[in-house]
Amino acid sequence: METKTIEVHSGSRDEMIDITDRISEAVGEIGISDGVVTVYVPHTTAGVTINENADPAVVHDILAALDVAVPWHQSFYRHGEGNSAAHVKSSLLGGSVRVFVRDGKLVLGTWQGIYFCEFDGPRRRKVIIAVQ
Ligand code: ZN
Repeated sequence: METKTIEVHSGSRDEMIDITDRISEAVGEIGISDGVVTVYVPHTTAGVTINENADPAVVHDILAALDVAVPWHQSFYRHGEGNSAAHVKSSLLGGSVRVFVRDGKLVLGTWQGIYFCEFDGPRRRKVIIAVQ
């Protein structure tokens, strides 16, 4: 299994950053033609997901809906760091996705992109790409 780590810089508290091209580049650099790539986010207040990258309104709506479902302030939160909502969102979306690689290319649907999801930015983050 070969791995590669890329750095992602978020610019706001909640943000979905399209990293599809960077994952494609990493897969190309590793040089695999057929297999599976795992995209893993080693953070507790960020995540990764696959969703539509055609209409930017979709990303807006996902972040807005998550904010309604998991408000930043809740009287029952106990976590002293004050970022419980970010932890919850991280677990809701999850920390990894797997995508097939065929003929050196990611097998994604026409409207699909891979998004790094920031929930407690702005920060510098790491994304680990493992190809098998
Ligand atoms: Zn925390």
